[in-house]
Amino acid sequence: MSAEASLFGLTNLPYGVYSVGGSAPRVATRLGDHVVDLATLLDDDVFAGSSLNPFMAQGPDRWAAVRAAVTAALADGLPAEGVHPVADVTLHLPFEVADYTDFYASEQHASNLGRLFRPDSPDPLMPNWKHMPVSYTGRASSVVVSGTEVVRPCGQRLPAGGGSPELGPSARLDIEAEVGFVLGVGNDAGTPIPVTQAEQHVFGVVLFNDWSARDIQAWEYVPLGPHLGKSFASTISPWVVPLAALAAARTATPEQRPTPLPYLALPEPWGLDITLEVEWNGEVVSRPPYASMYWSPAQMLAHLTVNGASTRTGDLFASGTVSGPGRDQVGSLIERGGDFLADGDEVVLRATAPGANGTTIGFGEAAGRITPARTREHQR
Ligand code: CA
Repeated sequence: MSAEASLFGLTNLPYGVYSVGGSAPRVATRLGDHVVDLATLLDDDVFAGSSLNPFMAQGPDRWAAVRAAVTAALADGLPAEGVHPVADVTLHLPFEVADYTDFYASEQHASNLGRLFRPDSPDPLMPNWKHMPVSYTGRASSVVVSGTEVVRPCGQRLPAGGGSPELGPSARLDIEAEVGFVLGVGNDAGTPIPVTQAEQHVFGVVLFNDWSARDIQAWEYVPLGPHLGKSFASTISPWVVPLAALAAARTATPEQRPTPLPYLALPEPWGLDITLEVEWNGEVVSRPPYASMYWSPAQMLAHLTVNGASTRTGDLFASGTVSGPGRDQVGSLIERGGDFLADGDEVVLRATAPGANGTTIGFGEAAGRITPARTREHQR
């Protein structure tokens, strides 16, 4: 078995959407180097469609029952029907993204970016940062699956040395290595999700690359936050790893001081021991540790809904860039203090986490290649 295949054993069993030879997309799981068609395996039409949304909407009791059924059905190996080598299939966006919110939950990253974007400020963190998981809401329509090419964005940016803004291709195109959380079941308007109830709503986890045009972002972000510097593309991995597969990866979050308000307080706040890997043009340049994130997934979800905002099946919230203290642990290129992405560059995110019974599980890849800006279309 290949090293990659070993990350997709019986303790993982992620969900994705595949097609083969031009067939209609359907839901599958992955075991080793094969995808397994779930409508065939379980004789259940909820998996015969082209997204995970109908299954995710069925709720946590069904998620547990299906995971148990898939585990039992595959315990003795691959079935006779509905099996394809993963190399032979096309993997699609696994769920319809309903709404998308991006947090900023790494103290290390927020501090690094604060120093870069506000060099004259005495404190790199804004006064609100340790009181709430801050975020902005982006465009669900620009979330794309791994392998989708990323066209270099154009936008307003200031010329080097100042002056008036110009429209043109970003010269400071960057990545943000993040973890995304997919909601299976939402909440009604006016009924916040308590911090203790995240597991009843969060279906699973994807890898997330929030491509970022730093020059566009730096000019536009005051006072309403990032927009066009981010909204051209965000890449997710094709497999949604269920939260149930990550039980062994749970770990305490770093100590939170000052103590968060009661709606954000958990007796035992849990993060996830996921180690990301950033590969840039074939070379691993960083291994960001998700376990170092200050704000936990349950806290992000509680904050997202505390004002009574409704959420729904397919909502996606991402953690913000994952950065540890070392230069080889940062989740963006700007924090390395060096070069940005050139046309033709490819970035691949991968990750591993502890699975049940001493295993290690994987997430697949969130990969994207930069193609040149389509400047002519912007200059008409
Ligand atoms: Ca981000």
